[in-house]
Order: sequence, then structure tokens, then C-alpha cells
Amino acid sequence: MTMETLSYPEVKNFINGNFVASDAKQMNVFSPLNGASISKVPLSGMKEVDQAVQVAKEAFKAWSNQPIKERVQVFFRFRSLLEKNKSEIAQLVHLENGKTIGEAEAEVAKGIELCEFTCSLPQLLHDEILEVSKGVECRTSHAPLGVVACITPFNFPHMVPLWTLPNALCLGNTMVMKPSEHVPLSTIRIAELLKEAGLPDGVFNLVNGDKEVVEAICDHPDIEAVSFVGSTRVAKIVYQRATSNLKRCVALGGAKNHLIVLPDAHVQMTASNVAASMSGCAGQRCMAASAMVAVGKVDHIIEALCEEARKIIPGKNLGSVISKEAKIRIERYINEAEAAGAKVLVDGRNAIVEGAEDGYYVGPTVIDFVTPDMAIAKEEVFGPVIAIMRSNSVDEALAIENGSNYGNAAAVFTQNGGMARYVTERASAGMVGVNIGVPVPREPFSFGGWNESKFGVSDITGKSSIEFWTKLKKTTTKWNPEDRTNWMS
Ligand code: NAD
Repeated sequence: MTMETLSYPEVKNFINGNFVASDAKQMNVFSPLNGASISKVPLSGMKEVDQAVQVAKEAFKAWSNQPIKERVQVFFRFRSLLEKNKSEIAQLVHLENGKTIGEAEAEVAKGIELCEFTCSLPQLLHDEILEVSKGVECRTSHAPLGVVACITPFNFPHMVPLWTLPNALCLGNTMVMKPSEHVPLSTIRIAELLKEAGLPDGVFNLVNGDKEVVEAICDHPDIEAVSFVGSTRVAKIVYQRATSNLKRCVALGGAKNHLIVLPDAHVQMTASNVAASMSGCAGQRCMAASAMVAVGKVDHIIEALCEEARKIIPGKNLGSVISKEAKIRIERYINEAEAAGAKVLVDGRNAIVEGAEDGYYVGPTVIDFVTPDMAIAKEEVFGPVIAIMRSNSVDEALAIENGSNYGNAAAVFTQNGGMARYVTERASAGMVGVNIGVPVPREPFSFGGWNESKFGVSDITGKSSIEFWTKLKKTTTKWNPEDRTNWMS
């Protein structure tokens, strides 16, 4: 298949195994690589959500009735199809999101890993069984919830949908998904490949749009659970609205990830890890380092970091940010910090890529002497920018990290095991790292932050997601009439 084949001039909803045109108002989709219009996406509403939910409700009857060992076969085939179509999917992610081809390929590789975890679910789902009194057995089993919904952000158009859909479907649910209206193309390809893998019609449905679709999902009485990934502002709205309608909800929000760098840290490893973490996917990862807390004398490490940052070139090994608005927002944070006394060591403002002058690029930016009260220190910038704050002790650094209202990731750079443990035990974040710039837990470990980076009890991937996508049935059984009755049974 060539790149030409993977172009979707018009986005359609995917309902009951078919792509259906919508009569809703349409919005242009732009490629951030060069600002060109690449598609149109419908802004659907309750009508389309309800159509998808009714279809998913009907499909649930047969799908949930299959044993998991049969359902999982779809995901073995789907995984192979992802592998086979890896480079075309990566091209599509690159086109609509603006990340580099290499980053897009890594995103597809992570999607494959997520599917591999799904393929292991039959081995993980061990029901418990115990003879609780003579001849009487209690057994637990995981039952699917019914129709569930997933709402996804722009920054991982392929991977974030695969955080939820393979596990949720393999566990017997049926789904309505709403992709980000900025990157609706990658999910079309997912729907096509799921169909090719033999997923029955109606089990997976796509409804495109923005706020109105999200609100319809939160309000629809036949949707049992909602997963959301996006900004904290919207995560709060979704969590409150879905749970007030008595749905199960996990809502992942934004982040402000701190890297605490101690003077004994390995210079080159730290510099290259911090540079990669702040600039990978143009800083648009919820796991990206965006604040570095430098403890004591670490000027030599900051110098090495600047050297690494200068090797990152927009349009070459650095992709674009998602929109013109994002570029303006990121540069505003840098301007304001500079005006308040911070020192820009590497300046990525006004980046222009030759031949893609209308693309939305911000170069890597290292900004020193940021103070914890500045907006750039507290808020999510979501661009290739690292704000360095100076501290005199590890406890002072931890106080800065602990003071954030977010809590997705944190990491410490040191060669001292005791200090590493001191920091990881005290950091207020769900995912912590030692000498790792992006401490994403790999499968089967689950993904999820703390504080305002996640609302809801379970994590979104891994073993934790099994509890989210299922409900427990407890069955008590007695077959032998001769077994006497006791106080419990
Ligand atoms: P966003 O919150 O703007 O949008 C996410 C989804 O919500 C989209 O599908 C969008 O259509 C919908 N939406 C937007 N405004 C809405 C509103 N007012 N009411 C209801 N729905 C609305 O997020 P984004 O800009 O697409 O993605 C970037 C954000 O996602 C960043 O904050 C990033 O940190 C976060 N993110 C977090 C994680 C995580 O694991 N914690 C992972 C990826 C991205």
C-alpha cells in the first residue's frame, strides 16, 4: 500500500462496520507540517452517538457471549496487521500530528506492544474458586460492562486509542470512540484494520466531533463507562459529568513533569536523556520533561544539555507542534519568563523550516533561572521547552516537585542509589524514574498519574485496566443435597 492510498479527504463516522457520511457541520483538518488542509471532519452530535450506541448495544449480545479465547483471536490478527502496515500508519500519524517519522514509528511499535498485552489477557484472567464450606464453592468471574466509550487527545493519534480499545473489547465490551478532531485519520485506519482482522460489525464504532460528542457520551444512558485522555481542564469536566450520570470513569489529564538533577549525575547520560525527554514529539507528550530542578552545582550538566539541545533541528529531528495557536502559546510562556528575569540559553522561538514555512514549529528551548512562581514553572507548556529551576538541596527540589498540582511523572538523575530512592519515595507522581527521562511503564505495568493528572481509581492500561473494563460476578454453588446446611449456605 502506498502513501497515496492512505489519504482520507473526508472523515466519516464508522458505525456497524460501515463508514457513514454525516450531515453534521464539517471542520477542516490541517497538517501541522505545512499548514495544508488535508481533510474534513464532521462535528457530530447526540444523534450520531445514539446510532452508534444502539448498534454497539446489539453487538454486545453476541460478542460478550463468546469466550475470551475466541475474542482474543481478533487481536492476534490485528497485531499482525499493525506490523504489516507499520510504515503506512506511521506516515499517517506524521501527516496529521506533525511528529517525525521515527517518532510515529515508535508510536506504532508501542501500539503493537499494547496489543501483545491484550493477547495475554486469557492467561491473566484467572477466576478465583474456593470451597467455602463442605460442598459449597464460591467463584468470581470478570463480566464485561456493556457499551463503553473512549475520548482521545491529539498527541498520540494511534497509540492512545490502543491504550483502551484492545483490552476493553477483548474483555467483552463494545465501544464508541471519539478521536481528537485535530487528528481523526489514524483511527480510521484502526477501524479498517479491526474489520480486516475479523472484528464483528458494531463492536467498535467511531463518532467524530468535538465537545458536543463528548457531552453526548457523558449523558447517554446506555454507556456504562467512559475513559478520557486529554487536558486536565477537560478531564475534570468529563469525570464530573460522566460520574454524575452514574458511569464508571477514568480521566487522564495534563502534566508538569519534574526532573531532579543532582551534581553527581552522569553528565552525558543526563544531558541526552533530558534533551530527548523535553523535545521528543515536540514536547507534546504527557510524560515529557518540562521542568528541571537543578540541585547545587550542576552548571556542567546544563552546558551539556544545551549542547544536546542545539543538535535538535526543527523539520529534521524535531517535528511540529499541533497548531498555530499552540506555537503562539508556547512562545508566550518563553517571552513572559524572560521578561520576568529567566535566562534563555537555547532559543527555539521564531523557528522556520525551509520549504515548510507555514508549518507550526518551535525549536528546542532551554531556559534557566526560572522561579517556581512563574507560569512556565507551574503550567503545562506542551512544547519543546525545559524550564530550569535552581535549588540548594534535594528537599528544596522535592518541595518544588510536590508543589505541582499535576503528578504524572518525575525522575531523578544521580549515581547514588540512596539518593535515588529518597527522591522516588517522596516524589508526588504516579510514574517515577531513575536516570530515565520518560519513565513510561511498559506493558504489563499500568499507565496512570496522580493528583490532577488522573481522576478515577484505576490506571488506563495494563493489569489495572482489567478492573476498569469488567465487573466481578460472585457465584456460590452447591450440588450435593447430602451436604448439610450451615450458617452461611
Ligand atoms: P483536550 O483536553 O483539548 O482534548 C481532549 C479531547 O477532549 C478531544 O477529543 C477533544 O475533542 C475533547 N474536548 C476538548 N474540549 C472539550 C470540552 N470543552 N468539553 C468536552 N470535550 C472537549 O486535549 P488535547 O489538546 O487533545 O491533548 C493534549 C492534552 O492531553 C495535554 O494536556 C496532555 O498532557 C494530555 N494528555 C495526557 C495524557 C495522560 O496520560 N495523562 C496522555 C496524552 C495526552
